[in-house]
Amino acid sequence: MNKNKIDIKNFTSEELIKVLEKGKFPKFYAKQIFIWIYEKRVEDFHLMTDLSKENRDVLQNMFYFSNLELLKEETSSDGTKKFLFGLEDGLSIESVFIPEVKRSTLCLSTQVGCKFDCSFCVSGKKGFKRDLKVSEIINQYLFIADKIRPDKITNIVFMGIGEPLDNFDNTIKTIKILTKQRGLCLAARRISISTCGLVPEIYKLAELDLKIKLSVSLHAANNDLRNQLMPINKKYPLELLVPAIEQFSKISNHSVILEYVLMKDRNTKKEDAVELAQLIVETGAKLNIIVYNGSSLDFSPPQEEEINNFKNELNKKGIFFTLRKSRGQDINAACGQLKSKIE
Ligand code: SAH
Repeated sequence: MNKNKIDIKNFTSEELIKVLEKGKFPKFYAKQIFIWIYEKRVEDFHLMTDLSKENRDVLQNMFYFSNLELLKEETSSDGTKKFLFGLEDGLSIESVFIPEVKRSTLCLSTQVGCKFDCSFCVSGKKGFKRDLKVSEIINQYLFIADKIRPDKITNIVFMGIGEPLDNFDNTIKTIKILTKQRGLCLAARRISISTCGLVPEIYKLAELDLKIKLSVSLHAANNDLRNQLMPINKKYPLELLVPAIEQFSKISNHSVILEYVLMKDRNTKKEDAVELAQLIVETGAKLNIIVYNGSSLDFSPPQEEEINNFKNELNKKGIFFTLRKSRGQDINAACGQLKSKIE
């Protein structure tokens, strides 16, 4: 039924203005419709009472409101919720809602599968299928925000399946929709993108100056080790990645966050900590340490002692860091555990 119609949730407000201008609708229509969809959460043109009746019929024939199909919802003992969503072409993705005391974070996926094949991460193990459309990204937010009211989503992280900077345009458009004032009106500083280190796109993102935060999945502070863990490092080694991080910090006036997942016997040696400390000093970045989740793909979490030794080494160098707690481990909702169903 929707075959010949256009999915209206693929448009930013600026794009909708252009599309509707072409359709010869009154100028204020785009703004009104945007408010109906994102501020008032109405997805039926016939209920948009400030548009003329005739035009509502025309719009109803032109556009449709896509939605995700909820295939599965799981709740962790710590309150984290994981959602498996079916897409129109039968593929699927996952999103995670993480409630905390003073805030709650939604982790969004941007691709079905992933191209970058980090050796420790399950998200890319079945390869890459396709980019998500803007509507498929924003619908993860809308579905979960509608469902879990009155718990408000305060933070968004693009840390689900896929590489957000590899689906650059759609990720940016989604952020524009999320932050639009008469709409969802989320604060840009509460939105974070995480990247495996796509250097040209980090510069591009810096230029846009969206006021969002950037995390970089580092996991190793020397090229040999990082090449083994993250093949993207062969294309964009640390001598290219570090200046990109510095440039982003400079333009955004905010430190970039470096993510370092501790993996047993892989990246937890004394020298690893020393090199990491140097890199933190050099870049002025903030450091988040996470203990590896699960035990798959020949990787596992280090024991307490290994973790403490690494932390002590950083402390000795005067490096401040946050040890991030993993949430939702019992339902495979923690970092790096999200999967797409591709088969
Ligand atoms: N492609 C982006 C976005 C994914 S974010 C990126 O690489 O940053 C997912 C984060 O979880 C990344 O930092 C990734 O390196 C990390 N990760 C992958 N597998 C993990 C695991 N088993 N335990 C903890 N973190 C993991």
